[in-house]
Amino acid sequence: MKRRTSVAVVAILAVLLLFTAGPAGADQKKITAAIDEASKSCRGVSQQIWEFKEPGLQEFKSSALLKEELAKLGYKVTGDLKAPEDLVKDGVSKTAFKAEMTGKGPGPTVTLMLEYDALANGHACGHNLIATSGLMAAAGLAKIMKDTPGRVLVIGTPDEERGSLGAGKVALLEGGHFEGSDVVFITHAGDRWSMDQRLLAMKRANFTFKGKSSHAAAAPHKGVNALRGVLLTFTCVDNLREHLRQDVRIHGVIPKGGGPVNIVPDLAQAEFACRALDTATMENAYAKIVNCAKAGELGTGATLEFKEPRVALTAAIVVQPLTEAVQSNLKTLGIAANEFKDFDELASSDLGMVSYTYPTVNVWFKIAPEGTALHTDAMREAANSDDGWKAAVVTGKAVALSAYEMLTKPEKLKAVQESFKAAKAKEGK
Ligand SMILES: [Zn+2]
Repeated sequence: MKRRTSVAVVAILAVLLLFTAGPAGADQKKITAAIDEASKSCRGVSQQIWEFKEPGLQEFKSSALLKEELAKLGYKVTGDLKAPEDLVKDGVSKTAFKAEMTGKGPGPTVTLMLEYDALANGHACGHNLIATSGLMAAAGLAKIMKDTPGRVLVIGTPDEERGSLGAGKVALLEGGHFEGSDVVFITHAGDRWSMDQRLLAMKRANFTFKGKSSHAAAAPHKGVNALRGVLLTFTCVDNLREHLRQDVRIHGVIPKGGGPVNIVPDLAQAEFACRALDTATMENAYAKIVNCAKAGELGTGATLEFKEPRVALTAAIVVQPLTEAVQSNLKTLGIAANEFKDFDELASSDLGMVSYTYPTVNVWFKIAPEGTALHTDAMREAANSDDGWKAAVVTGKAVALSAYEMLTKPEKLKAVQESFKAAKAKEGK
């Protein structure tokens, strides 16, 4: 009798638990079920974008397709986004777009970034999967927003690959299109699962030296050699290297070094890129490079022309509670802890600028065997493979579930925002 009672009590408790635990668990199930459903049509979208393989700022078909899919999901879609005229021709970013869905009442804004530009050898960086894992996350969130406070913002960010400074995300940031974002998500396909957020800050320097031409044999004493200004700059920069931190990268080229050999060059140009793991260190090294060019001017008498570039790329700000939230969802979805690996080699991205402005996380997912490099033909094939697609679906789910947490758990969002502020204050120190 006693045993029967306890069984009944346990049963009642279990039912109660099911209902009280219901909303959160039920929403999460709705999200993943919606993504499983959406994954069928999204696979087609991914394949089409892969076949379009449109380079930066020419992603017309890809962005049109994504806009159409987001509209079908119930998002309010806006194209032709305004951007500063000195960064984007005519001040309109034609292949960028924005899609919004407001939920039940006021709340946080979660932003999903989609990339869809290709390289000369096609989608060898898998941006078709960045776009569609984001699209799937948007589909999952669309299912629950009518009962969830807040807003989902999807931003189509063109032109990442050319590394062009000023287009892509920087122009959209300056255009104010991320405004209101509380947290920003993006994904990237690669040779591993990784929550490694590091990016190198980067700034370019273009130096022009103007001298005076003269006959190189008959009257060199009447000339001023602009090429010598460039060469002296390189020599000074190479002397600097001894005193730079290990992660600082400086690479330079000479786009213009003179004309016929029998004329003292009156015009020469040097271009440098300076990078480091944090923005302050990069800026510090950059200022020294500018001084090297000034030394080139002083030492040769050639006049230096230099203007600070309009845009520089910052390093990434790493928001630990945010990366942990995503990683924990990925683990729940079946990605084992030992599958996550940091990178040995790092580069720069306009993503750094976004992460500097809003708490941002980039989710690396594995579509190819470890060691497969980005931008290779092998990576391009992986970006259209079955295994690649499966990983993209898992990633879309992890993003949607993490975004849902940020929408519904104020304490988690608060931790993210506090960590962001602290990380930003610490940058470069
Ligand atoms: Zn790339």
